[in-house]
Amino acid sequence: MPTTTIQMQCHLPIPQPPAPHPLTSRHVAVIGAGAAGLVTAIELRREGHSVVVFERGDQVGGTWVYTPKIESDPIGFDPARSKIHSSLYKSLRTNLPRECMGFRCYPFVAKDDPDRDPRRYPGHQEVLWYLQDFTREFRIDELVRFETEVVRVRLVEEEEEKWKIKSKQRSGKDETEIFDAVVICNGHYTEPRVAQIAGINEWPGKQMHSHNYRVPEPFRDQVVVLIGSSASAVDISRDIAGVAKEVHVAARSVEDEKSGDQSGYDNMWLHPMIESVHKDGTVFFQDGSFVHADIILHCTGYKYHFPFLETNGIVNVDDNRVGPLYKHVFPPALAPCLSFVGLPWKVVPFPMFELQSKWIAGVLSNRFALPTQEKMMEDVEAFYSSLEASGMPKRYTHNMGSSQFEYNNWLAAQCGCPAIEDWRVQMYNTSSKNRRAQPESYRDDWEDHHLVLQACEDFMKYTTHKISDRSAS
Ligand SMILES: Cc1cc2nc3c(=O)[nH]c(=O)nc-3n(C[C@H](O)[C@H](O)[C@H](O)COP(=O)(O)OP(=O)(O)OC[C@H]3O[C@@H](n4cnc5c(N)ncnc54)[C@H](O)[C@@H]3O)c2cc1C
Repeated sequence: MPTTTIQMQCHLPIPQPPAPHPLTSRHVAVIGAGAAGLVTAIELRREGHSVVVFERGDQVGGTWVYTPKIESDPIGFDPARSKIHSSLYKSLRTNLPRECMGFRCYPFVAKDDPDRDPRRYPGHQEVLWYLQDFTREFRIDELVRFETEVVRVRLVEEEEEKWKIKSKQRSGKDETEIFDAVVICNGHYTEPRVAQIAGINEWPGKQMHSHNYRVPEPFRDQVVVLIGSSASAVDISRDIAGVAKEVHVAARSVEDEKSGDQSGYDNMWLHPMIESVHKDGTVFFQDGSFVHADIILHCTGYKYHFPFLETNGIVNVDDNRVGPLYKHVFPPALAPCLSFVGLPWKVVPFPMFELQSKWIAGVLSNRFALPTQEKMMEDVEAFYSSLEASGMPKRYTHNMGSSQFEYNNWLAAQCGCPAIEDWRVQMYNTSSKNRRAQPESYRDDWEDHHLVLQACEDFMKYTTHKISDRSAS
């Protein structure tokens, strides 16, 4: 296959607006070395801050570090259970095309290396390798303290705007240090959220959350009820159908008239949500149908969880709303010294992390100004009121979907950097449509070749990598 080698500088041109005050450099703690923490570290360092990244694992990559291990409580109720960070399953391939998914300053292009995965929707290992390449390219590991878990973050009482961080190394050693600012990048796909089901305490079957799903084998010959309709739920139901006796998918999005056989399978059925479950093992659905099931698999999402954060009640998680937060990033009363990267979901995560962290870095250095605390609170309250008026439950506060690009462009404008590329927006929309239309084959059967070419042309402007046109062929 032909490959193209491109010389480049790996920076998007950023016309910087004049700083409102003299620039300042701060000592900043970043919690987590997943994709969000890595790009945050770069943006902070680029802006002249000194950075320490705390990472409880032994490598970078966060979610993308696959492990076959599962937690001691497969449903995730027991707070004392052994915890595993990643929720990846073995067969996982990305649900976004690589061109769209990658960082803007470091495109996720296919490598000209036979050991790598050149597919447009690669397997999870390729994403981890990409993040490792990114880490090497920007020398981020020198900023990371591995095997060091942050166990407490709180304001220093005597000195306003200073944060005390207590961390614990795997060796058992504790340390407490003072920072000017903290950026929280701890991920939000680790703490399971489960469906409330009438009668569940009496039901004799097993329960599991998709956080602990790795391979289909444990479901062999079982009757499985799987709850959910996300991209992972769709993948997992199909994975399991290969070995299970029956798979019954229950989802809010399935109305009575759509329930029935899942096309292409003779052992999978769609149902509306579960109505109730009973002592004799039956699971009733809202349309009155029922099955005798062995296991309920909750593919029902995750909870935001910041067990280390103490803000005297200023920042709370209420029905999965982390708030109050200005633009999903800064709590007005603690801005700019406390911030969050990566909370929005149903997004293209990496480019959004990049823009959020660029904004944080510039605000911390005084290059960009925030509105007053009162104005930020007004904005937050207006946002919450608009959600309420449109009937949106609180737990969807950080769900972006179609508004993500407007949000990204707002961030880009704050930072004086180019808006999200048209091809990226179109590619996201096209691939989402394709995924809904053909969940089985969207990763290998696509028609947006023209967008791939536009993306590759764009990458050539600022990448130094070898871009293989295998993915465009
Ligand atoms: C099943 C699944 C499939 C996905 N598929 C895609 C996809 O196809 N494309 C896509 O773009 N995105 C996908 N995502 C979203 C994915 O989560 C994001 O792409 C991204 O990896 C999130 O990065 P993060 O840095 O926010 O969080 P994480 O990757 O979760 O990283 C957080 C890091 O923080 C560390 N940490 C947590 N708490 C502490 C602490 N107290 N002290 C120190 N360190 C701590 C963790 O060890 C971890 O390394 C998927 C997610 C899941 C769960």
